[in-house]
Amino acid sequence: MTSERSKSLYEKSSALLPGGVSSPVRAFKPYPRFIKSGKGSRIIDVDDNEYIDYCMAFGPLILGHSNDVISSAVAEQLSKGTLFGAPSELEIEFAESVCRHFPSIEMLRPVSTGTEATMHAIRLARGYTGKKKIIKMEGGFHGAHDSVLVKAGSGALTHSVPNSAGIPEESTRNTILVPFNDLNAIEEAFKSNRGEIAAVITEPVMGNTGPILPKKDYLKGLREVTITNDSLLIFDEVITGFRLSLGGAQEYYNVKPDITTLGKIIGGGLPIGVFGASSEIMSSISPVGPVYQAGTFAGNPLSMSAGIAAIKCLEKINYSDLNSLGELMRTSLDKVASELNIPHVVQGIGSMFQIFLTSKPVENYADALTCDSAGFMKLFQGLLDEGIYVPPSQYETSFVSTAHTSSDISRTADAFFKVMSEVLR
Ligand SMILES: *Cc1c(COP(=O)(O)O)cnc(C)c1O
Repeated sequence: MTSERSKSLYEKSSALLPGGVSSPVRAFKPYPRFIKSGKGSRIIDVDDNEYIDYCMAFGPLILGHSNDVISSAVAEQLSKGTLFGAPSELEIEFAESVCRHFPSIEMLRPVSTGTEATMHAIRLARGYTGKKKIIKMEGGFHGAHDSVLVKAGSGALTHSVPNSAGIPEESTRNTILVPFNDLNAIEEAFKSNRGEIAAVITEPVMGNTGPILPKKDYLKGLREVTITNDSLLIFDEVITGFRLSLGGAQEYYNVKPDITTLGKIIGGGLPIGVFGASSEIMSSISPVGPVYQAGTFAGNPLSMSAGIAAIKCLEKINYSDLNSLGELMRTSLDKVASELNIPHVVQGIGSMFQIFLTSKPVENYADALTCDSAGFMKLFQGLLDEGIYVPPSQYETSFVSTAHTSSDISRTADAFFKVMSEVLR
């Protein structure tokens, strides 16, 4: 496999874009592959190498690359206009499509990214409760804005900047960190900040430190402790929404948050974010209420039409088929690594998976840090040469989509076997 064109594009791009990329999670050494097209489960780079993709753009592409139904919905909208700066009927249809599946969301506001969604969800929680502080999980990732970029997961963790430079200490003073899966820690945090916590924000299944599942009744515990203390529960379902089930993790685990953020999948591959809640809470948002939020591209017709089409497709798929494929991947990887006697833990749920190079279950951020992340990068490089594209970090989640097949998975398991036996033994 050669990658000469990627190499020369990287040389050009790194003079123009920091690290040669538009988002740090895409960078890896010696240089990233430049992708020219994608279809179904496959992507093709500029040197004409084909990969089975499990990064899937870090989550949005649950229906595969370049899905026909979504593409034609976007093409149709394209001919009618891309942005009006005025309401369109599409926003109503989109909101109905989301609310139909999320009983906790009676009203929502579309934005352009997941980052904006959580930023405004937190502002809304503060505005609604009149309280200042928020509780966030160590290793939780809620986008790249100031109040949540503390011990953050995803690229922040991969590139060793979980606490970014350029964020004044004052901006994170009101962010309290606790380990995921530890109800005592939450209760302690509430005790020592009595009456001051606006909200707890968490991914119901952590996805940005690799997939970390909530322990039994942990989410219910979060629900109870937030109610008891008159503060709000925010589920950041930017990854899990429409992935674990149509109604996301809140349906799957049967725990109803006050505010939900969505993104990734619901844009059908176009830029999107959403925050939503009960009508009462959402009535705090401008122009109805005092919490200001705005966006030129919010609810833009292309993202709306792609999102509506994606949700329509998801309403027709069989989630248990998709999840079985995820399960097949998890058991295959576990089998491969066990045969080779490589210390590992395979984790995930539904269509989410990751192999952690460590010997004990990963239940929180501290556990994740015990992984051999350098070993993982060797694995990543080897897989790339075998035509398998997983996210370039131990601390990300891999995804199967409805476009993947069981033969993709057996080919992938063979590649894991080959590479693991070469680079990890
Ligand atoms: C990706 C992600 C975000 C940020 O979304 P962007 O669209 O990248 O801004 C927020 N929360 C979670 C859980 C995510 O996985």
